[in-house]
Amino acid sequence: MEKKFIYADNAATTAVSKAVLEEMIPYFTEEYGNASSIYALGRSAKKALETARERIAKTIGAEASEIYFTSCGSESDNWAIRSVCERLAKKGKKHIITSAFEHHAVLHTCQALEKQGFEVTYLPVYDNGIVKAEDVKNAIREDTAIVTIMYANNEIGTIQPVDEIAEICREKGVIFHTDAVQAVGHVEIDVHKQKIDMLSISGHKIHAQKGVGALYVRKGIPLTNLIYGGAQERNRRGGTENIPAIMGLAKAMEIANTDILKRAEKTARQRDRLINEILKISHTRLNGDPVKRLPGTVNISIEGIEGESLLLMLDLNGVCASSGSACTSGSLDPSHVLLALGLKHEVAHGSLRLSISDETTDEDIDHIVKVVPEVVERLRNMSPLWEKIIKEDNSK
Ligand SMILES: *Cc1c(COP(=O)(O)O)cnc(C)c1O
Repeated sequence: MEKKFIYADNAATTAVSKAVLEEMIPYFTEEYGNASSIYALGRSAKKALETARERIAKTIGAEASEIYFTSCGSESDNWAIRSVCERLAKKGKKHIITSAFEHHAVLHTCQALEKQGFEVTYLPVYDNGIVKAEDVKNAIREDTAIVTIMYANNEIGTIQPVDEIAEICREKGVIFHTDAVQAVGHVEIDVHKQKIDMLSISGHKIHAQKGVGALYVRKGIPLTNLIYGGAQERNRRGGTENIPAIMGLAKAMEIANTDILKRAEKTARQRDRLINEILKISHTRLNGDPVKRLPGTVNISIEGIEGESLLLMLDLNGVCASSGSACTSGSLDPSHVLLALGLKHEVAHGSLRLSISDETTDEDIDHIVKVVPEVVERLRNMSPLWEKIIKEDNSK
């Protein structure tokens, strides 16, 4: 039998698509000029760079002058938050509002700023994995410098009330940044219409390469210098531009935003099949709101098993997935996201994240929904934790 290989971890990273790769290749081979050089080869690189900026801006309703290229989503998050805080601290604004389940690129930046004397409010996300806009409103103070709330969560896929939060921030004159790394290309975004001030993008989550990202910054919001050394990115981020990666990002943004609703519908159908089938296993729960979620992301807690063992067994059965626990970081602590939802430690440990893409087929879903219950049963049969759960059930 042919060995199966199903990649269901697109929230961790994606394959570079063929069209993206094709877009990039000429910029390695013929069009390799430095965008700062004066001769034709350099000018043509410069032109490609500025066209890419325009193309990306267009996909999110921004202007080209509002797009800055970065090396990744983490850099975009760091730059946005630190930039605003550094500038506004001088005006006495040293308060940050964020949520308890942000990506570490945001959380650790906030924690670093705390050490520098900033005060941070970490808003709760409740058991549906969603921040309340009302809570943002109540948390805003005279000295609030920035509100940074993610567009969609990377572990559970819930979509946040970004429009309402943005509206509140605009009304109160507070800058609103959103980490949209998981949302871009999966939900329709129009930064001007939605009143978003700053938005982070990463290439490798949308079928472009690793190591390229972008930051949208609304006109009129100054950015502080990130890298000294050159005039690139309007003097704010020195360093010769990675034109092939940037061209790939532009292509990936265009593809991801074409027929977005139709594609999301197909993916959401597959996602709901995953949810419905896996929830047939006893002692499972879907993490996060069933409706307000990304089309491709599922996170289910399965009691009586260890997330890591589940992932290894799934791998042996040809399925790449991820767990709610932060196993990637080498830590055995349960995920801060699942704990923020109010899950108990042992439940948070046995969680499964499946994140599918356009390339996922119905046959892939068939295979996953066949393999997961089998693997769970085998693991539970070996688990003292499961024995305890069953005993407790029986004594009820
Ligand atoms: C992946 C991810 C990031 C980090 O992006 P990199 O390009 O890997 O640095 C930030 N935020 C969210 C929500 C992500 O999913």
